[in-house]
Amino acid sequence: MEKKERAALITARLKEEYPVAQCTLDYEHAWQLMVAVRLAAQCTDARVDMVTPVLFGKFPTAKALAEAPFEEIHEIVKPCGLGATKARDIKASMTKLVEEYGGIVPDDLDTLLTFPGVGRKSANLIVGDIYGKPAVVCDTHCIRINGLLGLTDSKDPAVVERQLRELLDPAESNDYCHRMVLHGRAVCVARKPKCEECCVRDLCDNFLRLSAEKG
Ligand code: SF4
Repeated sequence: MEKKERAALITARLKEEYPVAQCTLDYEHAWQLMVAVRLAAQCTDARVDMVTPVLFGKFPTAKALAEAPFEEIHEIVKPCGLGATKARDIKASMTKLVEEYGGIVPDDLDTLLTFPGVGRKSANLIVGDIYGKPAVVCDTHCIRINGLLGLTDSKDPAVVERQLRELLDPAESNDYCHRMVLHGRAVCVARKPKCEECCVRDLCDNFLRLSAEKG
């Protein structure tokens, strides 16, 4: 079966298995997603969702956050790890947003990538979730599971993103990535994938290889 055909079947199965596909970070405004996804680097979404209500409660607008003292941002965000770097990036990105874009989060990847602390994962998440444009959010689950499935063959997020863009329906790609996260937490867990429970096992290279080895 062609990879593209397999990708379409996997997309459909995951859609059935996880009807609700959405970002697990809590936010109300686009600028808040930009902040939350920066905090999520090397941190769990659950922890970020505990920290952001405090941060956004104290600094309720992008402008307030841009003008906030670094020390105060740092104090709040440090439970997410890399506190100083994240606080610096948040302050700098909010300053750029307010001064150069009037507080309106841009809707294209290239512009978003010019913001401090915004990498491809964050930019794709914003473009996909805020603006509904085709996006491929390559986080750790997405990279690992697509490798196991045999749809991609790299651990480099930019390469995986490019390979998935060639395979996935653009209208489905953003939700597909959200579903990868759900699948990675529920079934295809990193330490021991529950292959026998997996809705795409007959389409998974890793499962088929292990089955063939067992005979
Ligand atoms: S069959 Fe196993 S390895 Fe393949 S996607 Fe499912 S849980 Fe992951």
